[in-house]
Amino acid sequence: MTSYDLIIVGAGLVGASLAAALRDSGRRIALLEGRPPQPLPQDDSWDVRIYAISPGSRRFLTDIGAWQHMDAGRLCAVERMRVAGDRRSSVLEFSADEIRTEELACILENRLLQAALWQSVQGCDAIDVIAPAEPTALQLDDDAARLTLADGRVLSAPLVVGADGANSWVRQQAGIGAAPRLYRQKGVVANFATEQPHDGVARQWFFPDGILAWLPLPGRRVSMVWSTWDEQADALLTLDAATLCERVAEAGEHALGRLELITPAAAFPLRLLHLERIASHRLALIGDAAHNVHPLAGQGVNLGFQDARELARVLGEAPAGSDIGEHLLLRRYERARKEDIVAMQAVTDGLQRLFNNDNKLLAWLRNTGLAFTDKLGPIKHALVRHALG
Ligand SMILES: Cc1cc2nc3c(=O)[nH]c(=O)nc-3n(C[C@H](O)[C@H](O)[C@H](O)COP(=O)(O)OP(=O)(O)OC[C@H]3O[C@@H](n4cnc5c(N)ncnc54)[C@H](O)[C@@H]3O)c2cc1C
Repeated sequence: MTSYDLIIVGAGLVGASLAAALRDSGRRIALLEGRPPQPLPQDDSWDVRIYAISPGSRRFLTDIGAWQHMDAGRLCAVERMRVAGDRRSSVLEFSADEIRTEELACILENRLLQAALWQSVQGCDAIDVIAPAEPTALQLDDDAARLTLADGRVLSAPLVVGADGANSWVRQQAGIGAAPRLYRQKGVVANFATEQPHDGVARQWFFPDGILAWLPLPGRRVSMVWSTWDEQADALLTLDAATLCERVAEAGEHALGRLELITPAAAFPLRLLHLERIASHRLALIGDAAHNVHPLAGQGVNLGFQDARELARVLGEAPAGSDIGEHLLLRRYERARKEDIVAMQAVTDGLQRLFNNDNKLLAWLRNTGLAFTDKLGPIKHALVRHALG
């Protein structure tokens, strides 16, 4: 049996960020990962999985020493955002200048951020990275949590953190029931080279049958996320490259001229997961293990980074020698995160229902609402500032 202060299961973006945040806390950490990241490709291909990182998450990633490992040439700042409804006249626009910030978000590739986080946790005396790891049993006892690995090793700690994604094994072992609501939609993602420059503008179109986003990548490139009903998503995946480019360019009003596919399309099922509890005695959940949101606001991983930051803060404030697996302490983390998570779920779910709908009254309401919000300077700016974290 090996004893630690903390066991983190899952070293995806969120789990690795928590370990990095606690690197200098004086606590011994076991970081378990089932599928360690692959070495980065040596060619100049682009990852199909792209994130819009909010300024708040960027600050956190800088504070924990991960951002410094990112290649600046692969990052792209969003300077302006343009959101269009399904009526041409209803458009909402805002810019970083308007709200006096440097950027609205930073667009980057999953595998580069994963590699940067991995670099910041490896080689630390305080962190034992165990990968590949296959946990087989978890006991949450009064005095400690005990986790058994397939190779027979047993790890114990006052606290286990589940950072193991949407289908969290830790959550299941702890008996926390999860009943996700399936949107019956998929997010189809792909990257394109564009004929015209994007000028740092992120574009989004709301249609009755889906939501299309083009996020700017460095150079004349964009990343697409097209969330749409399962049948239509599956149909998009069967298109040959030329037809897909034509479909995507047309849906985006040919805003950037002709498109050329540079990363083949892939798709992810979309779901809403809300849990009543994200902490209990000896257990805390963070990231997708704790919540899933529709990707229309690009906030999933940003919510996860805020979980990691908050949990690190609560653990950091615990008096030396105290039991960090105490439910009373962990409830402070749960309470601190509740409002943010519920608000993001309500907004993304509400927008998805409002827009992906054929009802004529709702069509009038959503288009009028977009155009009206565009004219409400201070309210629009306050909304944007909140989203920046
Ligand atoms: C189409 C789509 C587009 C998206 N776009 C955005 C976006 O633009 N911006 C944004 O912020 N978010 C976006 N998201 C959401 C984002 O992908 C997730 O919120 C994010 O990946 C969650 O990170 P995580 O570390 O919590 O979980 P994961 O990324 O799922 O990581 C979990 C880790 O745990 C490991 N693991 C799992 N089980 C075990 C086990 N039993 N033992 C050991 N290890 C285990 C896995 O191997 C993995 O490494 C998008 C999601 C979708 C579906």
